[in-house]
Amino acid sequence: MGGMEIPGFRGRVLTSSDAAFDDARRIWNGAIDRKPALIAQCTEAADVIAAVRHARQHELLVSVRGGGHGVAGHAMNDGGIVVDLSQMRGVRVDPESRTAVGEPGLLWGDFDQATQAVGLATTGGIVTHTGIAGLTLGGGIGWLMRAYGTTADNLIAADVVTADGTLVHASEQDDPELLWGLRGGGGNFGVVTRFSYRLHQLGPNVLAGPVVWPMEDAPEVMRFYREFCASAPNQLTTITQYRTLPAFPIFPARFHGRKVLQIGSVWAGDIAEGQRILAPLRGFGKPLFDLVAPKPYVANQSANDKAVPHGWHYYWKSTDLPDLDDEMIDIITEHSLRMRSPRSYSILFQLGGAVASAGEDDTAYSHRAASFNLNINGVWLPDEDRGAEESAWTRGLFDALQPFHYGVYVNFLMDEGPERVRQAYGEAKHRRLVALKDLLDPDNVFRLNQNIAPSAV
Ligand SMILES: Cc1cc2nc3c(=O)[nH]c(=O)nc-3n(C[C@H](O)[C@H](O)[C@H](O)COP(=O)(O)OP(=O)(O)OC[C@H]3O[C@@H](n4cnc5c(N)ncnc54)[C@H](O)[C@@H]3O)c2cc1C
Repeated sequence: MGGMEIPGFRGRVLTSSDAAFDDARRIWNGAIDRKPALIAQCTEAADVIAAVRHARQHELLVSVRGGGHGVAGHAMNDGGIVVDLSQMRGVRVDPESRTAVGEPGLLWGDFDQATQAVGLATTGGIVTHTGIAGLTLGGGIGWLMRAYGTTADNLIAADVVTADGTLVHASEQDDPELLWGLRGGGGNFGVVTRFSYRLHQLGPNVLAGPVVWPMEDAPEVMRFYREFCASAPNQLTTITQYRTLPAFPIFPARFHGRKVLQIGSVWAGDIAEGQRILAPLRGFGKPLFDLVAPKPYVANQSANDKAVPHGWHYYWKSTDLPDLDDEMIDIITEHSLRMRSPRSYSILFQLGGAVASAGEDDTAYSHRAASFNLNINGVWLPDEDRGAEESAWTRGLFDALQPFHYGVYVNFLMDEGPERVRQAYGEAKHRRLVALKDLLDPDNVFRLNQNIAPSAV
């Protein structure tokens, strides 16, 4: 089947008879193995329009693929069409207005390279091979969020192909309600073909890196860390991992394979001031080692890439947390010490700062009052028979924290049903999202996502 099959489509259309099909249907989570009828690799907005109209006409199930990192695998389907944006990777940075316009196939590594070339950045993901598209549309949390807000807070405009195949522009002036929905409401309202972002002056060097303690010390370190976070300036964002130290050359070889507590930092400000602010954390207890140093922002962005490669099998459970209390700290430590797979880990994002100071109703992204987000990741190799065990471990920690659950970040959800999607937004905001969905996609064409079902469906 060739490109002619979709009227007006100028990109490449792949089916199972094409050699490139298997590569094109592969996504980050190797546990997802789906075979669509068509993968429509778009080159421009006109292709997206053609693909959406074709899907409607033939009543095909529609997936939208940006960077392919969605853990639930909604970017692929069985038997339907994939609107594949991975080939659309243009980016234009305007240093004068401090804005950037990016296409939906861009990965954070591409985006950061382009913006840092002129000393600018915006909040992005903490792994360079994640797509800007899905991450932005779900909210976007990362190393710059406490200084500059979520990625969605920095989204100032977007071009969107809606379910009827119309191209619309969303901005504060043009369609503020759609812009509001795109800032956290995911892929529910259409296919975004262009994202415009506000940028901030940064680097190129930032003070960044992890301090690493033995995991057994986590109860004391995390009690100290909680107090440290309570008074931390907004320029500082920290992200903690409970993990087995991988055999990366940057880590001292004698600690490879050891269970550790790793608190990473990025200080988005004057380096000498950052040194002073971070000193108490670095001086607490007996760290195994400490890699905090001035380094290029882009180097820090890629530091975690190899710990979460494409193709491994991943199972996630996540919750926002109102605060860290002693019991929570002890539960997380106790479960982390029982991790079996050396690839599984938990990651705790420090929220607050500029994330909390934006208005709760400013964006679809929600739960700005949460202090932390915990994402528990069961990870195993494709040829390992430990999916059930790792998923059970992941759920075990999630369930043990049940009394403390406080909403969830939509981009960390698997296929967990409508109730969890509601939890991501809360009732009032969910109703506002449904109203927008009713307006733009009453037939739920875009339903392979964290779905906001229209009222008629
Ligand atoms: C290794 C890893 C690290 C991560 N780190 C972070 C992090 O630091 N911060 C964070 O906030 N999140 C993080 N995430 C979660 C991430 O935000 C989501 O996985 C997100 O969905 C990835 O977007 P994508 O474009 O790569 O994925 P895809 O799988 O391509 O897209 C996910 C979904 O988004 C929608 N979508 C994608 N593109 C478009 C578009 N152009 N128009 C409309 N809808 C679209 C579709 O519904 C699609 O199913 C991480 C994920 C992984 C796997």
